[in-house]
Amino acid sequence: MQPIPIVGVLALQGDYESHARALEQVNAQPKMVRTAAELEQVDGLIIPGGESTTFLKLLEREGLFAPLEKFARTRPTFGTCAGCILLAKRVTHPEQESLGVLDATVERNAYGRQIDSQIVTGETSLPGGPLEMVFIRAPRLTELGSGVEVLATRDHYPVLVRQNNILAATFHPELSHAGSVTERDSPDDLGLNPDRRVHQYFAQMVFDASQQVKNSGSSTEPRRVQILAAERE
Ligand code: GLN
Repeated sequence: MQPIPIVGVLALQGDYESHARALEQVNAQPKMVRTAAELEQVDGLIIPGGESTTFLKLLEREGLFAPLEKFARTRPTFGTCAGCILLAKRVTHPEQESLGVLDATVERNAYGRQIDSQIVTGETSLPGGPLEMVFIRAPRLTELGSGVEVLATRDHYPVLVRQNNILAATFHPELSHAGSVTERDSPDDLGLNPDRRVHQYFAQMVFDASQQVKNSGSSTEPRRVQILAAERE
């Protein structure tokens, strides 16, 4: 049997528990990452939302900035919201340091204070049609390099992008649900019908990358994750 790749979740701040649950729901194996030693044990990593300035401080304090930069240069890494800000090469409003692995400019808190958080439905090229997106003090991707693929948009701005091993979302995919808000009776219903397409997509990236490492030197095609194959039929 193929071992299931381990997907790390950076657990310094933010809702890392929800990301771990989302990964379990797509049959991936999550592992909390708080140290450089733990980072070495994972095949891919999710950097959750939170406050990017706080992330920068915590990464420095834990001695994780350089190991994380090295990891993200080659291994599947998914940054959501503040995580996306950390990945981008250029950060504005204000300028700040970043890991610089995604060829993009990102503007922090781009939707202003009035619209602190918002749930919208946007277009996506992921199978399954439009995607619910939860934006919380969200950044905006204002420039993308030519090697960056757009997987979802909001008002024509990219909100989910991929560049090789890097995936970045300006929203919180761990909070996406299938069906419209009005179809849910009460806030307690949140969580009953989560939309896990984005986590599934990233789990597939991690799986494919781990297969490539294993198969390097052989011509074997990477096997697809079963759950994804079934959904795509
Ligand atoms: N506003 C935050 C920042 O600039 C990001 C918000 C989020 O991750 N939900 O870092």
